[in-house]
Amino acid sequence: MKNITVIGVGYVGLVTGACFSDLGNRVVALDINEERIQNLEKGIMPIYEPGLAELVERNVRAGRLVFTTSYDEAIKGAEFVFIAVGTPEGVDGEADLQYVRMAAESVARVMDHPLIIINKSTVPVGTGDWVADIVRETQPSPVEFAVVSCPEFLREGSAIRDFMNPDRTVLGSEDTTAAERVAQLHLPLRAPIMVTDLRTAEMIKYASNAFLATRISFINEIANICEALGADVKEVARGMGYDKRIGHHFLEAGVGYGGSCFPKDVKALAHMAQVHGKHPQLLHAVMDINAYQRRHVLLKLHEHLDGLEGRTIALLGLAFKQDTDDMREAPSITIGDYLDEHGATVRGYDPAAMEWAKRAMPYLETAADPYELVKGADAVIVLTPWNEFKNLDMDRIKNAMRVPVMVDGRNLYDPAQMRAHGFTYSGIGRGD
Ligand code: NAD
Repeated sequence: MKNITVIGVGYVGLVTGACFSDLGNRVVALDINEERIQNLEKGIMPIYEPGLAELVERNVRAGRLVFTTSYDEAIKGAEFVFIAVGTPEGVDGEADLQYVRMAAESVARVMDHPLIIINKSTVPVGTGDWVADIVRETQPSPVEFAVVSCPEFLREGSAIRDFMNPDRTVLGSEDTTAAERVAQLHLPLRAPIMVTDLRTAEMIKYASNAFLATRISFINEIANICEALGADVKEVARGMGYDKRIGHHFLEAGVGYGGSCFPKDVKALAHMAQVHGKHPQLLHAVMDINAYQRRHVLLKLHEHLDGLEGRTIALLGLAFKQDTDDMREAPSITIGDYLDEHGATVRGYDPAAMEWAKRAMPYLETAADPYELVKGADAVIVLTPWNEFKNLDMDRIKNAMRVPVMVDGRNLYDPAQMRAHGFTYSGIGRGD
């Protein structure tokens, strides 16, 4: 049993804290957001993540997981401190490190015994050294510490499973004893543990996300070529994926990637490259293709509707992907904003993200379910591939609409079946 502190109780921090406590450690989870902590103490989760509420409740009840807003309380007795605060996009595309800085300073101010500080946030290459400098400069009197980079690879929607069964654990540090101790902490996860220097570990995270984003933009480019040539990208991707050198993952053509990681991380990597005189052409192409995919969906809508003024457009799914309530960089926002600016009424439904969607899209009319969503609509745009959308009663959907236009930004449905139901249907790269 180890004493662990996790700073930041968002998607990564809360999952990290809950999972480490479930592995038998004593965890203090800290956030500066008092409302989040008060709610967690009442059992109210700040985010939607399948299985998280039960995991948190079980470990709180067992006394292994506690929440606080006090750094004094959180650092007292801690051996390991995970920094899991946000690193959003800065003004020029760089990662904004203000929350990491605040967390490092706050830890340094109160630490009175040796600590291992672990960067779990996705941070630019060199941040580990920078955090060490901040801690050293802020400490009232010198206390020993080490900084270890331990990037997180979990996916929202399957975060607990991903955390508990990682493909690998990457640890970076200049202090091999500290890295070894953090490795011990991860042994119960039974994944290969790779120890590198700090900068290499930080780079592994960016390179991994950039590669996955590249696969998405690659298949979207292929999809657009498929459209011109009459091929079906879904079958193309399936055929490619059977090749073991390629695999099936992240080859789904659609409206493009969104969320709290890929957009900002690809941008931040390109920014790092540029600052150091490199020309990240591929990364720029990945971002350009991704931005185009959202326009592509809107162009399809324009093909089917003569003008948007006075139309009602239904957005089926609003979160950036299924099984999450995360609206950060969700394609639905870009598309909704455009529709609103062009005089359409924008109506939306999502099984988990309604509350955040209303904040991100103040003009949004909400619906209680997919059938209410499409009532009197001139078109429906599919934006999130939730399982519960896969078997909708399509006759009911079609009959409720004023004009049965469907633009399927996730290739969730079969084009021939949708046409048989009477829809004017367009998917992405389906050779139509
Ligand atoms: P989040 O926005 O959901 O949560 C961040 C939390 O940190 C918030 O609750 C915020 O109040 C808190 N916080 C900010 N400053 C603080 C401070 N000084 N002290 C204490 N708490 C503070 O963020 P997230 O999605 O969990 O992402 C965290 C990091 O993990 C980011 O760097 C992100 O890139 C990375 N990451 C995210 C995912 C993901 O799927 N969300 C996956 C892998 C890595």
